[in-house]
Amino acid sequence: MTYNCPVCNKAGLPDFKIVETSCPQCNANLKAFMVLNSLALPQSQNINKITLLFLVILLSIFGIYIYNSSTTENTLEKKFEIQSIYLKDSIKLYKDSVGALQNHLKDKTSHSSYVIIKYRVKDGDYPAKIAAMFYNDWKMYTEIEAFNNLKKPYILRKGQILRLKITQD
Ligand SMILES: [Zn+2]
Repeated sequence: MTYNCPVCNKAGLPDFKIVETSCPQCNANLKAFMVLNSLALPQSQNINKITLLFLVILLSIFGIYIYNSSTTENTLEKKFEIQSIYLKDSIKLYKDSVGALQNHLKDKTSHSSYVIIKYRVKDGDYPAKIAAMFYNDWKMYTEIEAFNNLKKPYILRKGQILRLKITQD
């Protein structure tokens, strides 16, 4: 007469209620069943029911533990799968954030590294003079002319508004 493992149901086990047995398949130590069986014997009936209940609960926890151990590989694989999904999401999120940040910085750089001011042309002004005034470099007149779409012969009218790009660094 052989018995089935109460944890994984493998057949061919000795009577684990009498012999101390470990299941060769799920590796469950079935000693607890032996202990329970001995408790059920008449000479052990004086052991109080709370102890018995405690053992049953212990056995259930043990069973759950064994069951979990036998499916650990599967569980780990799932956990790993879920974690890699999380990881991929995190990496994507991170990349998106970095991308957004870079764009933001690029925007900030291209928009705030200079300001555009308006200059009203006065009597006797000419591009090189204004360039010397604002840029400390009369040769910057080419920039003023280009930035304001001025055409030859680059004569400025009094009261004309020029836009000047002032770099802030
Ligand atoms: Zn088993």
